[in-house]
Amino acid sequence: MRYAFLSDIHGNRQALNAVFADIKCRDIDEVICLGDIVGYGPAPAEVLSTVYRQVNHIVLGNHDAVLAGHLTGDNFNDTARLMLDWTRRQLDDRATSFLNGLPYVIEGRGFRCVHSEPAAPGDFGYIYDETEAATAFDACQEQLIFVGHTHIPALFVTGNSGRTYIIDPCDFGLEDNKRYIVNVGSVGQSRDGDPRASYCIFDSESNSVFFQRIAFDTEAYRHDIEERDIPCPQTFFLETVDKNSLPPVREMVDFKPTASSSGGNDIPVKQLEEVYRRARIWRNIGLLTLILLVALTGFGGWMFLTMGGDEIYRIPAQSAPLNIRFPAVNEELVKEPQANADITLESPAMHWQIELENPNSQKLTVAPEEDDPEGINTFRINNTELHHFRLVSPPVKARKGTRYTAKAQFKNVDVDEGFAEVKVFQKTSGGDRLLMKSDASSLINRPDRWLPTSVTSREPFAADTELQYVISGQIKGVLRIRKCSFFRRE
Ligand code: ZN
Repeated sequence: MRYAFLSDIHGNRQALNAVFADIKCRDIDEVICLGDIVGYGPAPAEVLSTVYRQVNHIVLGNHDAVLAGHLTGDNFNDTARLMLDWTRRQLDDRATSFLNGLPYVIEGRGFRCVHSEPAAPGDFGYIYDETEAATAFDACQEQLIFVGHTHIPALFVTGNSGRTYIIDPCDFGLEDNKRYIVNVGSVGQSRDGDPRASYCIFDSESNSVFFQRIAFDTEAYRHDIEERDIPCPQTFFLETVDKNSLPPVREMVDFKPTASSSGGNDIPVKQLEEVYRRARIWRNIGLLTLILLVALTGFGGWMFLTMGGDEIYRIPAQSAPLNIRFPAVNEELVKEPQANADITLESPAMHWQIELENPNSQKLTVAPEEDDPEGINTFRINNTELHHFRLVSPPVKARKGTRYTAKAQFKNVDVDEGFAEVKVFQKTSGGDRLLMKSDASSLINRPDRWLPTSVTSREPFAADTELQYVISGQIKGVLRIRKCSFFRRE
């Protein structure tokens, strides 16, 4: 027989589906779930339904036990408790009575399954170290004990000496005079720094145990969280996802296929060697030019900074205040734009750095709207072609434990296509990391009225940090932007 052991799925349907896809190609006879089907994750009903249909045997986890009415939520942290309240509202009576009928322990041929540990399964203690593992070995006879609960794959071994050892989880063949505790890890809420789903296979013919790690669609999981409006979206698991994800190589763009062929300028094949060769030539030319400029004018360095090594045309702010202190609650951190002319290198904007893709077909002005009685200065962007723009406010400091809100208002004066959004970047040693951005979807459909947009950081910062407020977008046509605002919350 080949068994698959899954634990701590925690309402993560993407992770569970990926694990089942893997199970399907591994010749598994029976699937056993070690508990915590729900809790934390945004898809409890779907996950419970899949487990009900596809899993042969299930033991009760501590989160399941709360929903089944065996445990109160008192021993849970705030996030877990709030999510259990939310989860309860997603499940019907049939679901709770199903959970209510689950056992604490399953005994198989030569193995035992329990969510937490076998000495007192209803207390849901943890097995983290050798002493706790030794207690678990003493509590039963089986050679193999499968557990979950910590969300960290682990392996404990004891032999003739009676000593218990913890070893790095690895595939192994059972030896006659040894006993093993296998923590199968978590399918949906990994906590060992690797966001992939974890599960184990036991082959009772070859007497071997295998640890599996399965990647799944973490973005779709995040999408579930956003869409279902759950009370505690950020978990340690999602922070692991963020740490393991590749940094974006480009600004996000919306793409529309062109109506007609772009003509003779297509690049059907790009040979990397050729690209590198050209890059070397251009780099050398660039370096030579730079040296010449420095030598000739002394302004070479300044030119390089303002014109950029990339294709963005940058107009530095006329005067950017240095933010050397932490702001007060509700203090406005973004300045209303000041200027009364087109913004160019010769006449830059006060406090705002402007970045354009192509200054020849992009015009940016700052002035109040003609009929605005309040006289609020607005940015007016007129792109004759579809181009990117960025309006960058100076960085501000943010204290550990605080949260921030960013706002702006957009008006589609005559936008043919494109989008605009408010973004906040967090400055890190590895560069600027996108912390949050507003929804950019509705600009085109609602012309000629001010559309407010707002976004707030989800979790308080774990350490002091630096933030940057940015308006960015890609449009063809005329767009106005006003009431840019950025502040620390209570
Ligand atoms: Zn759990």
